[in-house]
Amino acid sequence: MSVFSFKVVKELGQARLGELHTPCGTIDTPAFVPVGTQATVKAVSIDDLQKLKIQVVLANTYHLYLRPGVETIECLGGLHKMMNWNGPMMTDSGGYQVFSLGWAIEHGVGKVVNFLADDSREEEELKRQITVKTKSIIPRQKLCVVDDEKATFISHVDGSLHVWTPEKSIEIQGKLGADLIFAMDECTSPIHDSDYTRNSMYRTHLWEERSLVKFRKLHNKFQEIYGVVQGGPFEDLRIESAKFVADNHFFGNGIGGAMVTKSKMLEVLDWIMSILPADRPSHLLGIGGIDDILNTVGYGIDTYDCAFPTRLARRGGLLMLPEDGGKLLNRWTLNVVREEFKNDNSPLSQNCECELCSGGYSKGYLHHLYWAKELLIFRLTTIHNLYVMEKLMSEIREGIAENKLEKVKRKWLG
Ligand SMILES: [Zn+2]
Repeated sequence: MSVFSFKVVKELGQARLGELHTPCGTIDTPAFVPVGTQATVKAVSIDDLQKLKIQVVLANTYHLYLRPGVETIECLGGLHKMMNWNGPMMTDSGGYQVFSLGWAIEHGVGKVVNFLADDSREEEELKRQITVKTKSIIPRQKLCVVDDEKATFISHVDGSLHVWTPEKSIEIQGKLGADLIFAMDECTSPIHDSDYTRNSMYRTHLWEERSLVKFRKLHNKFQEIYGVVQGGPFEDLRIESAKFVADNHFFGNGIGGAMVTKSKMLEVLDWIMSILPADRPSHLLGIGGIDDILNTVGYGIDTYDCAFPTRLARRGGLLMLPEDGGKLLNRWTLNVVREEFKNDNSPLSQNCECELCSGGYSKGYLHHLYWAKELLIFRLTTIHNLYVMEKLMSEIREGIAENKLEKVKRKWLG
């Protein structure tokens, strides 16, 4: 019997409370997965993560393959041992880097295009604006090109050339040794047309079939694999891709792709979640804003990974709890970098119990640490933001358990 299993403990509409069992422990879902790109969640220790009750982390296969390299990681005992993290771990496939180092550079876009803009603007207008913007900026060289066989990367570390295939991604992920891994896909740009997206989706399906064949050959019983749905913003493609993932023997459903708007993301989930097998865990790749999680958990998403809370922390952006007026702020963020906090002697929060907020640090001190480039700021703000994310997730789990998810949503979203 497999050491992996996923059990839905309770359903509330489509939202569900689950237990994802792995050889390194059980993840209570819905769960947020902090990103540890280079085998570390930036600025915090494993002890910090454990105190924060972080259940699972996600490391980046392509970045670790470049540096320190697979051989070194094997010498250091694999990813768990090297990091000193003995809980559940995920690695991605490198498929997102096909986008982030490829089309994202050429198109000048990110995972969700209108990160701060109002969702109500028409998609076509957004696409037009992005195209105009892209043409007006100095072209930067893409660091990745794809064909049906492979992705070819130029290393951002030393400029060397690297061929990346589905087989190679699975082999490397096998050697890194994370519990949960992903089949290789191509994440398309949100402004690709339907022709490019269709061809890319078929390429992704070929790559995922090859990933599965390689994965089964390795017979690693301490690892399980997720397929990934692509298909951009196009309904027929998303449905076809969801059917592909459903029909293949994956342990989990991954939902990938960059979007023009957040509302399009919800539309996509509406199309595909009834097709994807409900007895598998579903992971929404690269999404983890507070509103994103609250708005998608009702579709049956079980896990989320995102660099947003930790990246924001390193820029002095602090997520605020609803009790501290978080919902009134732009994206729940108070930015201590701003001049208005220079002489502010008040604590960040009266309600947060993290090391920063319970430790007697004032906003003015954080402002000073930021501008003096003192390293302590990175650790304190990261701990705080991860604490808020964990609080959000535990309230969501409680909300599902006690049939009051709508109340939790109202509390956080206002
Ligand atoms: Zn705090």
